[in-house]
Amino acid sequence: MRNLLYIVALLLLLQPAAAPADDVIKIGLSIKIIRNANGNLPTGVVPARVESLLLSAFNELVVGYRRGHRFEYAGPITEIGGPDPNGPSQWYDAEWSSCPGIRSAALADPNAYAWHSSAINVYITNAPGQVAVLCPFKQSNPIIVVERNSAERAMDYFHEIGHYFGLCHSHGCGCGACVPNQTGVCFTEPGDDGIDDTLADAGCWNADQIAQHHFGTSFSNLDAANQERVVDAVQNVMSYRSLRTRLTEEQLDVWADYASTMYSNVADGRTYFVATNGSISGTGRSTHPVDTVTNGVALASRDGNDIVLLRPGVYHETPTIQRPVTLRATRAGPAIIGLPRSPPGPSSCPASSPICCEIGPADTCLLCIPMGKHCP
Ligand SMILES: [Zn+2]
Repeated sequence: MRNLLYIVALLLLLQPAAAPADDVIKIGLSIKIIRNANGNLPTGVVPARVESLLLSAFNELVVGYRRGHRFEYAGPITEIGGPDPNGPSQWYDAEWSSCPGIRSAALADPNAYAWHSSAINVYITNAPGQVAVLCPFKQSNPIIVVERNSAERAMDYFHEIGHYFGLCHSHGCGCGACVPNQTGVCFTEPGDDGIDDTLADAGCWNADQIAQHHFGTSFSNLDAANQERVVDAVQNVMSYRSLRTRLTEEQLDVWADYASTMYSNVADGRTYFVATNGSISGTGRSTHPVDTVTNGVALASRDGNDIVLLRPGVYHETPTIQRPVTLRATRAGPAIIGLPRSPPGPSSCPASSPICCEIGPADTCLLCIPMGKHCP
């Protein structure tokens, strides 16, 4: 009997390491710190401090975004490098511009560079700057290189993770930092980030200048909703300003699409979008959502790690869900499942209040309510 138990236990251990089903999508993170040939770490970089600060900072942000993403380390922070002059220690003093060289070397010798195929690979060097960079953008196997003075600046990493998941700078894809006295696009005129719900922004603008450009008045004169839109721009993760915590719904859509397709290797589940104006033949990407909860669930894998993300609206269906899957609404508004449709014909509800809560004689509707409201 003991032998049998042993065999069963061994068989269990031999099973592939499937991620446990849960209600979040975990994004793997693998941090490497480059030592020099003498074994020294980058000046002032304390691995334990970096390790303890990054995950909590990232997860505090993604919890607030309400898309069900969480970060986790793919393993402990790894120190690489050492005596071999042709090994990782050759990059000890490398600046951000060496990103492509570090990436090529890591892909050529994954063991020496502690490459992790299912995590975002980050390399911290001893360059005395305060820069983090991602390379290449929207191509296979990107890496993030962090110079030593950014090693404890969580938002410098997080901005690069935004690039990892397909996001441009919110003040324009080809734009960088504000340069004093420089004028024109990127500096005093807005660039384009390809995202519809971010306000056009320029690298040298402040909140008042953004408000003036879009609304013709100062920030303090705006209503609360438009002030929020300006703050979304000023504090955008993908801007170059000092306080960066925000991503808009459409930026999060792009993030979810890249994490579900090109870079699905670093996430343990995928996001499938459902919208009331979606299509039966939608792919579930944010740009091609499916039309019903039932069709969204059908796209989700049976391992329980995927999220079906419901855009705001009323889904007139009573789905039977027979696989483990997480349904989520977004910050943009509630998603209501199961309300009956208004009866057809002249007695149905008007377009301004299209949901019928109570059907009377001859299919007349006794109580119509607006979209997005609950029947009493
Ligand atoms: Zn950037």
